[in-house]
Amino acid sequence: MIKRLLIANRGEIAVRVARTARRLGVHVIAVYSEADAGAMHVEYADEAVCIGPEAASESYLNIEAVIAAARATRADAIHPGYGFLSENARFAEACDAAGLIFVGPSADAMRSMGDKATSKSVMEAAGVPLVPGYHGDDQSFEALAKAAAAIGFPVLIKASAGGGGRGMRIAEREGDFSEALDSARREAMGAFGDDRVLIEKYLTMPRHIEVQVFGDNHGNAIHLFERDCSLQRRYQKVVEEAPAPGMDDERRAEIGNAAVAAAKAINYAGAGTVEFIVDATDDGANGPFYFMEMNTRLQVEHPVTEYVTGFDLVDWQLQVANGDALPVTQHEVTLSGHAIEVRLYAEDPARDFLPAPGHVVAFEVPIESTRVRVDTGVRSGGDIAVAYDPMIAKVIAHGADRNTAIAALDGALADLVCAGPTTNQAFLRRAITHPDFVAAKLDTGFIGRHADSLIKDDEGSLRPALIAVCADVLQARRHDATKHAEAGGEPGSPWSVPDGWRANLKAREVFVFTHVDDALSVAVLHDGDVVHLGLPDGSTATLPQDRHIGWKTYRTENTLFAVCGGTQVRLERVVAVEQDAAQSGSAGNLNAPMPGKIVSVAVSVGDVVTKGQTLLVLEAMKMEHAIKAPADGVVGDVFLKAGDQVTDGVELIRLEPVETKS
Ligand code: ADP
Ligand code: ADP
Ligand code: MG
Repeated sequence: MIKRLLIANRGEIAVRVARTARRLGVHVIAVYSEADAGAMHVEYADEAVCIGPEAASESYLNIEAVIAAARATRADAIHPGYGFLSENARFAEACDAAGLIFVGPSADAMRSMGDKATSKSVMEAAGVPLVPGYHGDDQSFEALAKAAAAIGFPVLIKASAGGGGRGMRIAEREGDFSEALDSARREAMGAFGDDRVLIEKYLTMPRHIEVQVFGDNHGNAIHLFERDCSLQRRYQKVVEEAPAPGMDDERRAEIGNAAVAAAKAINYAGAGTVEFIVDATDDGANGPFYFMEMNTRLQVEHPVTEYVTGFDLVDWQLQVANGDALPVTQHEVTLSGHAIEVRLYAEDPARDFLPAPGHVVAFEVPIESTRVRVDTGVRSGGDIAVAYDPMIAKVIAHGADRNTAIAALDGALADLVCAGPTTNQAFLRRAITHPDFVAAKLDTGFIGRHADSLIKDDEGSLRPALIAVCADVLQARRHDATKHAEAGGEPGSPWSVPDGWRANLKAREVFVFTHVDDALSVAVLHDGDVVHLGLPDGSTATLPQDRHIGWKTYRTENTLFAVCGGTQVRLERVVAVEQDAAQSGSAGNLNAPMPGKIVSVAVSVGDVVTKGQTLLVLEAMKMEHAIKAPADGVVGDVFLKAGDQVTDGVELIRLEPVETKS
């Protein structure tokens, strides 16, 4: 019996596992890196052990440190969550050797599935259909290029050791193959320390449909139906739902049985997911399906399955790890309603979804109900660290049918507040309410195809945000003035400094904010009980009556955040009227969008480049980001070389206009 469980993970999944464990009366032990000492998952545990510095390689991925923590706290089992050590066979063996129960499959099962190439050979033998492709041992350029040509372009190159969408590149045509292969190998080496690849036919209209399976150590294996995870970006899931829209019962049984066959082929015990890619060109979800890979762990998107089946998968994982048989048989698993999950990320959709780690000024989740669930490891005052995955939360909704689930999810996303980091929240709302999503016209190209309507500035939000922020400033000042008077003049907050924002000394004043790169002035006229505002767009508003209900404001020292319905407007308060005239990042200069390392520089001084051409590749947050020419031009200066570490905003390349000789 597991009595003391160490959770070798962080963030939402550590919190989620702890919840079930505690409900079952299991003593929970958290581990954390130095950067996570104040993290939410630590608070959810009965005790916690620091296992090393911020870098995951020295903490959450450090097998010795995790095992030592388990020993020191007399843990009898370790739950690995997802990511980190969850699919590491050596870790499972180390647990075994230390006399600890690893909550997951056997090291053997992990080995045969942990590697995409090996898993394909196993599945091929078990009669599970595979995507046409090459997963052989010969990794020479010649062999791979030949295989690609034989499969036929476009092909997809994947890291055999891959996961999380990393180390994957499309080669559209033969001419792209060499560069795509280099890039895939480089990313694979960096992320997994292993640069073996496999090649698959690239399907042009695919749906990602996966099956949740569960096995035990008594020879039982069942499935818990499918999840459709076709809404993806960079091969990473963004929206997941169960069941797959449009799949008929016959196909549902077929794909479920194929997944169970896959699990049985490796005597699988515990929670696993068999991922299939469906060619949706002709028959949508009922098109031909092919095995892609098996994930030998609990998956990020498991809550949608929990919603539609009513089971707690972490509870089951612990039961199986305890040596118990699965609590139900296949025919006792039934589908109820529809569930959808979205992944809320600290990232900027307008900047090609660059991760946007940072301080979380306020985090308020919608009221949880039987219909809405929020899994998170973040709370107000916390930070999204640069060192880890920038996922903030998963928001999951359940309804009697898909439309009800969409409505509940959209409502939850509208109510959720995450002030501080730039997030994909508004993007997610647009995605799940897009007419094609509502009509279940899904495939993995959805986000790319609808990018224009999904990624856009909410132009209408600036005015209500400014009004809300002015109201906030005025109210805070009134509050401070009262406090000031009561306390007999204690030093006020930065909001009450006498800089023209000061209490009713003047009937007229100007509030200045910066929004992105624009300075915005609001004329403020005090008129008895009301205040008239003259806004930058030429309109006027009167407080309090014109205050937009629904806009909430949050602040840090110098920044105000106005939030409404999942949209956030960030305004910097400008104290002095004179502003720094020098503007950075003027047209022609390319600056690092975030801290990272230069992987490669593709151009040199004097090169003529065209708009959209890749100039250099920056690696940040474990992913490669191509920095592309914003316009046609000539490279005037290159300030960095491969291997250089850069900080946010550092100038990388100067691009000069092409001289037109007329
Ligand atoms: P899913 O199929 O459930 O989306 P992924 O394979 O994308 O699972 O990975 C699950 C999560 O774990 C993702 O958030 C991913 O970023 C993270 N992850 C994947 N591999 C690693 C790794 N080697 N180290 C740390 N985190 C990882
Ligand atoms: P990972 O380990 O990163 O999850 P997968 O092999 O599961 O890698 O693939 C991730 C995603 O890439 C899939 O969900 C799908 O969207 C896309 N993908 C994978 N294989 C193909 C393919 N052959 N054709 C088109 N898209 C694919
Ligand atoms: Mg996958």
